[in-house]
Amino acid sequence: MVSTFSNSSVNLSPIRLEIQALQPQLVEWRRQIHQHPELAFQEKLTASLVSHKLGEWGIEHGTEIAETGIAAIIQGKPASKVLAIRADMDALPIQEQNQVPYCSQHDGIMHACGHDGHTAIALGTAYYLHQHRESFTGTVKIIFQPAEESPGGAKPMIEAGVLKNPDVDAILGLHLWNNLPLGTIGVRPGALMAAVELFRCQIFGKGGHGAIPHQTIDSVVIAAQIVTALQTIVARNVNPIDSAVVTVGELHAGTANNVIANTANMSGTVRYFNPDFAGFFHQRIEQIIAGICQSHGANYHLDYWSLYPPVINDRNMAELVESVAEKVVETPMGIVPECQTMGGEDMSLFLQEVPGCYFFLGSANPEKNLAYPHHHPRFDFDETVLQMGVEMFVRCVEKFFGN
Ligand SMILES: [Zn+2]
Ligand SMILES: [Zn+2]
Repeated sequence: MVSTFSNSSVNLSPIRLEIQALQPQLVEWRRQIHQHPELAFQEKLTASLVSHKLGEWGIEHGTEIAETGIAAIIQGKPASKVLAIRADMDALPIQEQNQVPYCSQHDGIMHACGHDGHTAIALGTAYYLHQHRESFTGTVKIIFQPAEESPGGAKPMIEAGVLKNPDVDAILGLHLWNNLPLGTIGVRPGALMAAVELFRCQIFGKGGHGAIPHQTIDSVVIAAQIVTALQTIVARNVNPIDSAVVTVGELHAGTANNVIANTANMSGTVRYFNPDFAGFFHQRIEQIIAGICQSHGANYHLDYWSLYPPVINDRNMAELVESVAEKVVETPMGIVPECQTMGGEDMSLFLQEVPGCYFFLGSANPEKNLAYPHHHPRFDFDETVLQMGVEMFVRCVEKFFGN
């Protein structure tokens, strides 16, 4: 018989106590992964550690899904419902500057986003659930995903059928989050993280002498007008109730003070929460670039990529996570619904396929100097969060199947 956590408080503490006993292993796995960070689709050592552990525990799993991905099946008492838990495994091209015994041993590569922690939490969750497979009714599929940072491992995993056979009904995932202190959980229904789009544009003018402008088409003047005009998309085309960002992050042109540049290059990123904006920014950016270029007699080439859609949480699943979070952190202070960020995540692609919830697990501890932002060469987090992550997933599983 499946117990829901509302049954009695007697059920609560053994879960935590047992997971606390796992903490030394969680830390060991996390540090092992941290010392051997691997870039997108190259997570071979990480995947082999995961596969080795799953095999050692007798957990059925498939490997090499979308290169290095793994999907493990934990079968509770037979029932048709399937809940997936997703963790990402990849690191970043950053040289670690932390002076810790478990520092990255791979030059120029670092787990600066906490995915080492995500992998350790998912492993711990697999271990715990396998040990307690008689205590829930249903199937848990744990997905170890490559390449979240880019180009994205969720899409090829979905295309490889990771959400099928058995078919997944709902999905959960978490991100360790140094924007929140340890002991807090950021969860909300609806949009949590933004869509990520990217563009590159080349302006083709006509170069010439800096003192004889009337014989040229100045790509610098044109690019400057484009950068300024792009700001009007958010300011004048987006409903002020919606949030969006258009950032031009690169602008390169010219070689000398007295030469009018033949070409100018720019690149930028677009972020938004409202899925209705899909396609809109591409269209407006191209209209603006085309119009300005045409008015000056210049040409352009625009490349545009819609990388990740926004991370949109299902209301019921977000409520489930929030009700579980109340057992794991102190309420009401520990639950932070105002946790949206314009950062992106390819968890969004899983959430487009099945209802689910992605949430943030506060991992910063300024007192221990563990509060550097994600992607910083000194990023690190308070490892106490590892056992909290396992507890969140384990309680979510039992609640999901218990309801
Ligand atoms: Zn990241
Ligand atoms: Zn990340």
